[in-house]
Amino acid sequence: MITTTPVEIRRRMSQSIVNQADTCLKRTEYDFFHDTPVMGGVGLLIGTGYHAGNAEGYLQRMHGDPHDIDKCVEAGVDAFRRGIEFDEYKQLPVDEFNWVFQPKTYRAPLIELTPSLADGIIEQLVRAYFDQDNPWNPSFQVVAVEFSMDLPYPGAPEGWRRGGAVDLVLADDSGYVLIDHKTSRKKWPKKKGSPTNPQAAWYIDAWRTHANTTNVKFAYEVMAINLDPETKLADPLFERRWAPRNERQIKATLDRGRDLALLIERGGPFLPSPESFLCSPHYCDYWKICPHGSTLNFTDDPQEASF
Ligand code: SF4
Repeated sequence: MITTTPVEIRRRMSQSIVNQADTCLKRTEYDFFHDTPVMGGVGLLIGTGYHAGNAEGYLQRMHGDPHDIDKCVEAGVDAFRRGIEFDEYKQLPVDEFNWVFQPKTYRAPLIELTPSLADGIIEQLVRAYFDQDNPWNPSFQVVAVEFSMDLPYPGAPEGWRRGGAVDLVLADDSGYVLIDHKTSRKKWPKKKGSPTNPQAAWYIDAWRTHANTTNVKFAYEVMAINLDPETKLADPLFERRWAPRNERQIKATLDRGRDLALLIERGGPFLPSPESFLCSPHYCDYWKICPHGSTLNFTDDPQEASF
């Protein structure tokens, strides 16, 4: 039985909160006003493992250590294994961990993993990043790895700050480059990472404020997993996608976060998005408890249906 507990709201806005609210405002209500146990599942934690492997590689470079790919793989697998047992977020008991990497749909077959298969996929992804020509040229200095920012939020309601963690910060003579590492099931569609997504604008402005500079660029580095449903092996495909943002886009993004903070302060209303394809048990952690999720989609008794 899943229950929610009311909690005191955290007055800290991030790009992921804005992004989540774009998908469904009802999720924002659950995120902010209830302590709800959720379980992201194996797909999310493979991403966590890949991030940890990448972070290890760039930390080695930052500290002047020789590159050790085995240590990167080890860091990735460790992060995955720890994630199953202790989620830094709100997690369900271990035996409820969701091993479904890809749900069965009209077009896609079910892909269910085991711990050792997941370890192997993380190893493939980390090696694919570092064994190929993907890492940044050594002329880029590693300034920070997994760097958290906590900044004032001018114009936001009282007590609100803005923050977020950037995966990698590099610098060369022309300024800073912020990197966000992503994993995806398949190659990113063209519009992914476009200016409607708040992330790049959010981090560019945050790093400008933090480092007191204007020369900041942002790039997504995406590793598509391309998992074979038969062999359950990955066929990793890497892409670097630059995400330039102009001043109007940055302002619009920060304004969105301020409006969302205002809505949260008022206590809503938080409208659900049951028509979104992301309103599904596979993409929403709150599906089981949200009256607009499972209840709208299934009825136990067909006689209950009314017209
Ligand atoms: S189940 Fe649907 S409506 Fe409810 S929070 Fe999730 S996405 Fe929103």
